[in-house]
Amino acid sequence: MSLRVLVAGGGIGGLCLAQGLRQAGIDVVVFERAPSPAAFREGYRLHISPEGSRALHTCLSADLFATVQATSGRPPRAMSFLTERLAELLSVEVLPDQAEPDPIAAHRSVNRYTLRQILLSGLDDAMHFGKECTGYERHDDDKVTLRFADGTTADGTVVIGAEGGHSAVRAQLLPHAGRQETGMVSIGGRLPLTGETASLLPPHLARGPASILAPHGLSLFIATHQAVVSDRHRHLAPADAGDQIVWGFTGPRDRLPIAHRSHQDLRRLVLDHLHGWDRRLRSLVEQSDPATVNATLLRTAVPIEAWSPSNVTVLGDAIHSMPPSLGMGANIALRDAEVLTQKLAAVHDGRLALVRAIGEYEREMRGYGFAAVSASNRALRQSAMTNPFAFAATKAAMRLLNVLPPVKKRIFR
Ligand SMILES: Cc1cc2nc3c(=O)[nH]c(=O)nc-3n(C[C@H](O)[C@H](O)[C@H](O)COP(=O)(O)OP(=O)(O)OC[C@H]3O[C@@H](n4cnc5c(N)ncnc54)[C@H](O)[C@@H]3O)c2cc1C
Repeated sequence: MSLRVLVAGGGIGGLCLAQGLRQAGIDVVVFERAPSPAAFREGYRLHISPEGSRALHTCLSADLFATVQATSGRPPRAMSFLTERLAELLSVEVLPDQAEPDPIAAHRSVNRYTLRQILLSGLDDAMHFGKECTGYERHDDDKVTLRFADGTTADGTVVIGAEGGHSAVRAQLLPHAGRQETGMVSIGGRLPLTGETASLLPPHLARGPASILAPHGLSLFIATHQAVVSDRHRHLAPADAGDQIVWGFTGPRDRLPIAHRSHQDLRRLVLDHLHGWDRRLRSLVEQSDPATVNATLLRTAVPIEAWSPSNVTVLGDAIHSMPPSLGMGANIALRDAEVLTQKLAAVHDGRLALVRAIGEYEREMRGYGFAAVSASNRALRQSAMTNPFAFAATKAAMRLLNVLPPVKKRIFR
């Protein structure tokens, strides 16, 4: 069957899908609200899991996947949990020191800007910037029109809503699908990784990210991003490319009132909560350029019942947004792109009917997507314990697990 796929939203999931469909010889057009690629407001580092890496391998050409590999930062080897005084609670190995990461399904540290530039490569004729999708009109099982805020429209066979948490396609397709506040906020910032700032890092950071769990539901995530950018790939790097330390401070909304605060005030708000913490952690925040400090209200999708499939569907944060506690949202959006590419390729080859293919994608996606939402919310609750007894018990359980390597290995396998 001849397909014309209209993708609303040129983020991580939408662009990866467009790359996959191109590889499968399917006509695809992407409509992105931002006026140009230069207008993308990116964060800095993104953790790509083996699942996300595998999806990139499936959807990208060999050349583009090699570029992802070449521009990835040093692979994480462990994840640690520490107290605010930097005592170890638990350390979980991701990759033994001597082992080479799997070339395809690896844990990766990538620069968000660079990944988006790679995902845009070769899509020039498919990309339409400055197009804010406002909804769609379904005419038939294989004809649908997408509407834009500027009054224009586009016709196709299939519509994919990939516009993130505020998706207009989801609002129309699944008006009952809710998102709710978690009651938590995150304030993040970064600073260049230099000889001086490296001395502020807990030694655990040499092997991978660390999460510092403190009383009152407060936690601080720290990671480094170290990538050797060759001359060949320099054009894919952001203006402030270079090794970086990134941090994210998470806590209950009533302790971290972020509304109407300047970048400088947000940094001050974090520092106000670091009294009694190891002084190196305070210095990390103090030395971050205020311009890099931003706050996010953490929201989550609410699981919904299955719906009847049609030629309109959704992927990524548009359907299963989750707090960033496990660094899974982008990886699940990439997995959606992979599964949807495979299903639409089967329609293109005449092996599957369109609505059946979308139904199969949605069934799979609801399973792993909402499992990731639950796991991320559980992790957020565990790192945000305000009850001092529950917090003490959790820390004791982590310490115990840490001295039982076989049990630890089995749990985190
Ligand atoms: C602080 C923080 C850290 C995170 N860290 C990680 C991590 O390490 N690993 C991980 O896997 N995930 C992480 N995430 C989550 C991850 O960023 C998201 O899950 C991921 O970006 C979702 O991809 P997406 O393609 O669904 O949506 P997005 O990447 O949000 O893309 C949506 C696109 O649609 C466009 N758009 C919006 N509205 C419209 C419209 N009406 N019409 C047209 N276009 C529109 C937007 O401009 C955007 O380009 C983190 C999130 C946060 C907040």
